[in-house]
Amino acid sequence: MIREVIVLGGGTAGFLSALTLKIKLPQLRIRVVRSRELGIIGVGEGSTSDLPYHLHGYLGLDQTRFYREAQPTWKLGVRFLWGPRPHFNYTFTPQVSSHLEGLKKPHGFHLWDDFEDADVNSALMSRGKVFARQPNGIPEIRRNYAYHIENAWMVDYFERIAIEHGIEITDATVDQVERGPEGVAALKLNTSQRITADLYIDASGFRSELLGKALAEPFVSYADALFCDRAVAGGWEREAEPILPYTVAETMDAGWAWQIEHERHINRGYVYSSAFLSDEQATEEFLKKNPKVKSTRIVKFTTGRHQRCWVGNVFAVGNAHGFVEPLEATAIFAICQATRLLAGALGENDCDISPTMRESCDRIIRKLWDEIRDFLAIHYRFNTRLDTPFWQACRHDVALHGAESIVQHYRENGPCMFAQLDVLPPSTSLFQLDGFYTLLLGQRVQHTRLHTPSPRDRETFESMRARTAVAAKNGLTVAESLAYIRHPGWKWTPGFFEK
Ligand SMILES: Cc1cc2nc3c(=O)[nH]c(=O)nc-3n(C[C@H](O)[C@H](O)[C@H](O)COP(=O)(O)OP(=O)(O)OC[C@H]3O[C@@H](n4cnc5c(N)ncnc54)[C@H](O)[C@@H]3O)c2cc1C
Repeated sequence: MIREVIVLGGGTAGFLSALTLKIKLPQLRIRVVRSRELGIIGVGEGSTSDLPYHLHGYLGLDQTRFYREAQPTWKLGVRFLWGPRPHFNYTFTPQVSSHLEGLKKPHGFHLWDDFEDADVNSALMSRGKVFARQPNGIPEIRRNYAYHIENAWMVDYFERIAIEHGIEITDATVDQVERGPEGVAALKLNTSQRITADLYIDASGFRSELLGKALAEPFVSYADALFCDRAVAGGWEREAEPILPYTVAETMDAGWAWQIEHERHINRGYVYSSAFLSDEQATEEFLKKNPKVKSTRIVKFTTGRHQRCWVGNVFAVGNAHGFVEPLEATAIFAICQATRLLAGALGENDCDISPTMRESCDRIIRKLWDEIRDFLAIHYRFNTRLDTPFWQACRHDVALHGAESIVQHYRENGPCMFAQLDVLPPSTSLFQLDGFYTLLLGQRVQHTRLHTPSPRDRETFESMRARTAVAAKNGLTVAESLAYIRHPGWKWTPGFFEK
């Protein structure tokens, strides 16, 4: 029976796990142990649209306070400077699978030549706007946005909320882990304390103190699909640059660079493969592109996941369980999913977890991570923008794994939704066919079913596109929308995030 939980780690993964469990299962005694000396990863982050839902819908955390204390900006998607088009937009909305009444084929078949303005969010992104405008002028905020957020600000916010919910916080470093029949028997702290719990959550980041080090759970590498293993990061204080409502992902010589938008700060980073570029060369290429960056830091990482996330009485979450580069900003997403799953499993089993429940959780998380790998793999395998040795190797050697059958189906049938019935059922997928097709069409991966719409269908589609463009043009920028939601009279719609 689980009554006491120790969460090792006070980063995003640690505090989100602690908060999720405490809010959903308030009878649990939860203690977060974190080392101030070791610190948190501290990189500016982008999320997916799951984070706003998790915080304000699932956990019910007040939006006004969140915006005040964590100071996020909005992200409608990723603008890819990638493949043969000048750019294309990946959004959290169904750009490709939508199907206007009366049209013979879904939207994807109409987007081969021109991927612009496929839907409102893409049209907003292309015009530097974040929300359409209601007739009374105020922003029409829909649920399909994500956040750009400073890691340290979000963690500080979580910490304050955690304390208010009665979560104990211990500032100490775990020096030693005592093994026992269940997995971990106790943690020994540098304060000489020995602490025990019924469940240990390993949220210790790349150190993976419990799952990786103490229990030596094998690591499954993703290196055959994802060749990058380092990032050089830097940024600058915003000057006259507008706050973009999206993350930029830009093709670089041996990888790609992100641009993440905070209100007063622009965060850039170059994810690269050390097999193709030295740290010095990467830094040089990065600084040439970003002359405003004053200082940089190199982060080394290994892509992959531990075989199981739940071993005995240890459940690992965040970087302690697995890591992939932030090309689709999936790390916080995986944390939210894992913590919801854990809370759901504990609730279902009245905190007395059965082996089959543990195995189910493990399978679900494994599948989620492997789909993230497969989705990222198609970003690399089909990017024809540069012809450097790195990109040649990607086009030749990146393993597609589970995406192979999706790509094959697409090549033979185009972006058709029939594949939902077999190749990628919606209930089993995180990115959905829409996500995969967006990347394939965005990169202009050839298929054999190019569609020539009838004049009537063409007119119907193009007039939808034109209406969308007008709505986006009249939309509001991030700065204008922030001013609205900061006004004392602003009210968030109750129940907005309920699924
Ligand atoms: C370059 C880069 C860019 C990224 N960008 C994104 C992004 O855009 N979007 C996204 O979703 N994710 C991104 N990530 C992933 C990001 O790291 C995670 O989303 C998230 O911050 C989770 O971190 P964490 O809590 O697992 O680890 P950390 O933040 O590293 O926290 C680990 C915690 O464990 C504690 N700890 C460790 N060992 C001990 C010990 N022995 N005793 C006591 N305490 C200990 C530390 O003190 C710390 O509190 C990025 C990662 C990198 C490297």
